[in-house]
Amino acid sequence: MRRASHDPQATPDAHWLRCEGCGATYADDGLRLTCDQEHEPALLTSRYREAAFVPDGDAGGLFRYRSWLPCSGPVNGEGAPATVTYRSEDLNQALGLPNLWIAFNGVWPERGAACETATFKDLEASAVLARLPAGGDRTLVVASAGNTAAAFARACSRERVGCVIVLPEDGLTALELASPLDPCVRLVALGRGCDYTDAIRLADHLADTPGFLAEGGTKNVGRRDALGTVLLNAVETIGELPRHYFQAVGSGAGGIAAYEAATRLVADGRFGCRLPRLFLSQNLPFAPIAASWRRRQRALAELPDAKARVRRIKATALSNRQPAYSPAGGLYDALRATGGEMLGVHNQELDSAARLFRDTEGIDVEPESAVALASLIKARAEGRVDGRTSILLNVTGGGRSRRINGGGGQPVRADLELGAGLGLDGSRERVLSLFGDGLPGRDRRGTESAVRR
Ligand SMILES: [Zn+2]
Repeated sequence: MRRASHDPQATPDAHWLRCEGCGATYADDGLRLTCDQEHEPALLTSRYREAAFVPDGDAGGLFRYRSWLPCSGPVNGEGAPATVTYRSEDLNQALGLPNLWIAFNGVWPERGAACETATFKDLEASAVLARLPAGGDRTLVVASAGNTAAAFARACSRERVGCVIVLPEDGLTALELASPLDPCVRLVALGRGCDYTDAIRLADHLADTPGFLAEGGTKNVGRRDALGTVLLNAVETIGELPRHYFQAVGSGAGGIAAYEAATRLVADGRFGCRLPRLFLSQNLPFAPIAASWRRRQRALAELPDAKARVRRIKATALSNRQPAYSPAGGLYDALRATGGEMLGVHNQELDSAARLFRDTEGIDVEPESAVALASLIKARAEGRVDGRTSILLNVTGGGRSRRINGGGGQPVRADLELGAGLGLDGSRERVLSLFGDGLPGRDRRGTESAVRR
């Protein structure tokens, strides 16, 4: 059944939400993650009243693109994370790709890249917090493989937003942070044998408890539109849409976000009329999206021994066993709309791509970015990419060694460590015991903040 629960023409709202399954529209209360109608899984997408791409020169970081971000109020973005896009000389020469552009997210002060925790997850955390309505009192629940935990821990600590972050204990290594966390941030680590998908399951269970609020991951339009600013930054720099777009995917959010942002840019009309072709990649032997897309099937392929495969990949942020592939508006639809391709990359290919980037560009990249670069090398070698085509490579994280050498890395301990045998209810009780008599709430913001004024 199709029912418009919100008439965007009758309100002054700068943005609203639309269900990609049934077309229903909703005012954005800053919290909504799903449609109210009963149907097959579907993502909500943001719709913006501003149809033209208009960067705001007065706003900092990703909030330069705030007219296409679902913010709940005014933002200035002082100190907010920023992507930088540039055309390399040495890497392009090594690859024989003169029209390759790099969108770099991470720590690289000489180039102007400023993601404090070294990955594009900083963009997501900032936008999710800017989307939350003022005056809420529930504790945000976030699931992470590691990098998302670092970004939300840092952002929630800075904004004094109460949150619980659930992650596998191996992910704690991503949390080397420059300064101590505010007590409003609680970290829950899952013990050996647990992976990212187990963290998502516990986070979902916890978020159903009164007083808690699901952050939502890929379902949160704040996250996806934040990732879309990587393409916006690139198009502002290049002056047009690239023909090919390369990125590694775990949940799929980055690929979907690139497609959504490209759709807005095509509708603007000044940057080209063709959607960039998505070349997305995963780390073999764990590549469920690649396995599904190879068969051109909407249903996600079941990989045998999935957990064992996850343990063998180096790019652990790509270990999501429940990516947003099948839902309406998800990765399957994005790949189909752009004539996209999925590539698989082995660990040794990842290693040599990471070395090539370091040797040519002089900075380290995260394993996930090395997967994306390795997939580009593979696509080029197989003749799937024309040498003169404009290509955007999304380096989703880099410069970690730079940050640590600069004194930016203090190990962080979890507030609670959970074994695998507790079950969901038992684990939830242990998490609740962290809060004693009351939840920390999420409306403990200081008088001034980087995101909000
Ligand atoms: Zn719907």
